[in-house]
Amino acid sequence: MAVRAHDVIVIGLGAMGSACLRALARAGLRVLGIDCYTPPHAHGSTHGETRATRLAVGEGDVYVPLVQRSHAIWRELENRIGERLLEECGFLTIDTSRGGGELHGMGGFFDRTAAIAQRHGIRHEFLDGRAIRERFPAFAPPDDARGYFEPGGGFVHVESALGALLADAAADGAQVHTGETFPGFSDDGGGITVRTDRAVYSAHTLVMTAGPWLPQLLGSALAPVRLFPQQLHWLEPSTADAFARDRCPVYLWLHGEGPDDIFYGFPQIGAAREIKVATEQSRKQDSNADTPARCDAASRDVLIDTHLAGRLAGTMRGLRSAGCRYSVSPDGHFVIDRLPDARRVIAVSACSGHGFKHAPAIGELVADMVQSGGPTLPEFAIDRPALTDGWRNRESQK
Ligand SMILES: Cc1cc2nc3c(=O)[nH]c(=O)nc-3n(C[C@H](O)[C@H](O)[C@H](O)COP(=O)(O)OP(=O)(O)OC[C@H]3O[C@@H](n4cnc5c(N)ncnc54)[C@H](O)[C@@H]3O)c2cc1C
Repeated sequence: MAVRAHDVIVIGLGAMGSACLRALARAGLRVLGIDCYTPPHAHGSTHGETRATRLAVGEGDVYVPLVQRSHAIWRELENRIGERLLEECGFLTIDTSRGGGELHGMGGFFDRTAAIAQRHGIRHEFLDGRAIRERFPAFAPPDDARGYFEPGGGFVHVESALGALLADAAADGAQVHTGETFPGFSDDGGGITVRTDRAVYSAHTLVMTAGPWLPQLLGSALAPVRLFPQQLHWLEPSTADAFARDRCPVYLWLHGEGPDDIFYGFPQIGAAREIKVATEQSRKQDSNADTPARCDAASRDVLIDTHLAGRLAGTMRGLRSAGCRYSVSPDGHFVIDRLPDARRVIAVSACSGHGFKHAPAIGELVADMVQSGGPTLPEFAIDRPALTDGWRNRESQK
């Protein structure tokens, strides 16, 4: 079988792979993207209509330039395709946890966000509970609640955005193979060889962006990354008008100190009288990304009864649900780095529940690493102690 040569092969075309493919093709490299499904699809981590985005990223300063650049790229793509991808309807964080509320492994998330907004000059305002109720009738916080409102936050239409990244990559010459499964690679020191059921390929660099499949594909190199199934729910509110896009921002409510004591949601999208709301679920792990992430009515009832009741206006009726997986690192930060024992292979595991908003800029970061041969950012290094020792440390702190 003839070997087809490429500069870079990208394995997995969810948010991260599509963004990498686009950036590599724009850089003029001969690039091939392979996915075993046909993206966008509902088997991985990039589906469910919407992804939240906020500019003061409480997860850390390193993310602010990434999300700012990503917003600019969404706008560039919109101009090309003539379709809206990024909706800046605002982002509201409500804190009734008395300051301890955690998100993505980071405690004191409200104060972290506020500090990052101030450090980076991101437009925002603080609201108390009464001001939140008056301005946004979807929410019923007590007077002593704290609110952080960022007008430049909002959401991205996830499937359209993925389609736009892939179309842009193809327009710049990227090849896209769907329905083709990557079984593994060999690295002979001079280059990478990939044999699929269809062909044999060679490449100078392999970019592995297989989302929740990455730990099973890369084994010990990604052993610290764990999978946590998540459930998304679409509900019909009795007070649907309060959730209209012009009255309701994207929101995150921290109401306790535990990692699951939060919920987040979106305004109504389109004509349907439904809203998407979810919690974060960090108690149950799984390890096989090939099985569909489970959805159950019990989880929806917990969401409605323990998280939403008394906090969101009106009552809620469950309509539909979807499963998805977080690939979570112990410190909540991404892994974007060359494998220690195969330097031509770059692993991109950028989830921990907050990766999508950064995807276009992560594509550029990876393209830069490929072109320059340079290192990743220290926060994303595969050998950082917080990654290798992290779960032990995190669990011992509980
Ligand atoms: C429920 C949920 C809510 C989220 N909410 C937000 C949010 O509001 N804001 C935010 O910024 N982020 C959010 N995230 C995180 C964000 O969605 C992820 O960071 C991002 O979508 C991950 O994309 P990915 O490309 O790494 O993985 P995926 O989208 O899973 O893509 C991996 C791809 O690899 C392919 N693949 C796997 N194995 C193989 C193989 N052997 N051969 C070929 N192809 C293969 C798969 O088919 C898949 O297409 C959320 C995630 C979830 C699950």
